Amino acid sequence: MSNRILTLMAVHAHPDDELIGTGGVLARYSHEGVNTVLVTCTRGEVGEIHDPDLNEEEARPRLGDIRIAELNCALEIIGVKHSEQLGYRDSGMIGTPDNEDPRCFNKADLGEATGKLVRLVRQYKPDVITTYNEIGGYGHPDHINAHRIAVAAFDAAADPAQYPDAGEPHQAQKLYYTSWNFKRWQQMTEEMKARGLKSPWEDDEDSDKTPEQREKEQTEWMERMQTEMARQTTEVDTHEYATLVRRAARCHRTQFSQDSFFYTLPEDLNHLAFGADTFARIKSFVPVPEGTETDLFAGIR
Ligand SMILES: [Zn+2]
Repeated sequence: MSNRILTLMAVHAHPDDELIGTGGVLARYSHEGVNTVLVTCTRGEVGEIHDPDLNEEEARPRLGDIRIAELNCALEIIGVKHSEQLGYRDSGMIGTPDNEDPRCFNKADLGEATGKLVRLVRQYKPDVITTYNEIGGYGHPDHINAHRIAVAAFDAAADPAQYPDAGEPHQAQKLYYTSWNFKRWQQMTEEMKARGLKSPWEDDEDSDKTPEQREKEQTEWMERMQTEMARQTTEVDTHEYATLVRRAARCHRTQFSQDSFFYTLPEDLNHLAFGADTFARIKSFVPVPEGTETDLFAGIR
């Protein structure tokens, strides 16, 4: 036990990703005095524009700036102390022409991108780093690259032979992947159906996919969830911060439409969905508890 200030670094792909999977822990640890650092790899230029007050044509060329402003608004609400940008261009969803833009994260030299993150790890000296799993949570190329550079930087930052000009070596103690809190979301979806509310997945059900396609997707999704749940080691209670996270989501006006479930969800269901953030612990240099871990800093405090 020491009185040293603990540091958490979360590595994300786009402005708004910080709230999904880490919104609760960033809010909770920030409020508990932990030094929190968010690294966002891209500026989100390719995202949708749901803000009814914006004109798409006018806003599109400055969407990166708009989204950074939205991010700053959200981080102020949840209390994150430091926000860093790697400055890459959003690559868009896989198979879209934006993937080919030379400025995009998809086309970045990953050694160079890792070096940028190593510099930040050595500067902020996080005890804990979080990022996405190998498939970037759901397959977005920018999320996959965020995963790759975060995993690489976790080790490289500690190695004096790597990136010698990027500061004094630092070894973070634990590395986590964010993990979908499937149980809670399933409960929430069932509860929404029982109350006659439109579930977040219903738009998809309305699409023109064949029943076979839908069933195949459903099976694949269930398999993915099971694999992901089997890997979960850690569930951090973020109940007290669920309302704050939702308030922060309102800052991302271009990303969540006004009728998004994020806004319309009854408060008790918001607590159900956002009452805990779950993770898979991938590396630890400190002893870890048996059974479900409830604190990302367990073993370090
Ligand atoms: Zn994203």
